[in-house]
Amino acid sequence: MEDSESGKGLSERDREIYEWQLDVPGMGEEGQAKLRNTTALVSRIGGLGGPLALSLAAAGIGKLILVHGGELRPDDLNRQILMRHDHLGKSRVAAAAETLRTFNPHVEVETVAENFSEGNAAELVARADIVFDAAPLFEERFLMNRECVAQQKPLIDCAMYNMEGQVIPIVPGETPCLACLYPEVPAHWKRRFPVIGAVSALIANIGAMEGIKLIAGLSGVNLHRLIYFDTAAMKLRKVKISRNPDCKVCAKL
Ligand SMILES: [Zn+2]
Repeated sequence: MEDSESGKGLSERDREIYEWQLDVPGMGEEGQAKLRNTTALVSRIGGLGGPLALSLAAAGIGKLILVHGGELRPDDLNRQILMRHDHLGKSRVAAAAETLRTFNPHVEVETVAENFSEGNAAELVARADIVFDAAPLFEERFLMNRECVAQQKPLIDCAMYNMEGQVIPIVPGETPCLACLYPEVPAHWKRRFPVIGAVSALIANIGAMEGIKLIAGLSGVNLHRLIYFDTAAMKLRKVKISRNPDCKVCAKL
């Protein structure tokens, strides 16, 4: 019997907690152990990153690094489900960590109380096995993409606007990267976006599932696909995407 605290396998406690998940085809103890031995970085833990981090914690990810600057405001509360009213005015990332640690104390949670930037990008990505991008700003998404490509770390890019959202699983050197699809910030893009929390949580969980499949070695990861969900019509579309041979970020891989 292996002990998860000291070894790479599952402990009896893990088997007890994840019993129903171990039965998922392709998961088993091997897939679960891969989750437990993975460090996932989630950049921004708001409407997208919060539910995403919660689902990773529920699935038994080994460690979460939460990256998000600033304090909780009243207008965050319609979607940032790791936050509570009594967290208002307090650090978002600290509030999120508190919720996650209460929810699953067996997941290690580290917090970085600043946003992803040129100054911290390389060091943050170096500490993770996989990166989940839930940032609203294109500049941050481009930076994460560039750094994940440079360090050849998988990236799950999640984004939403109004009633729609999309997820792109990126494996550098194999799939298109974000810059293959968006060479620059789209002209119509706006900082403030209409959002219902259920929409961001849905898109977050599509991203969480793609990441969990990738980490645990389950089949069906949507590589070379952009997953697009329209909640107004409740329609899901998968758009085939290709690498740009002239991409400024990934063409050399
Ligand atoms: Zn590219």
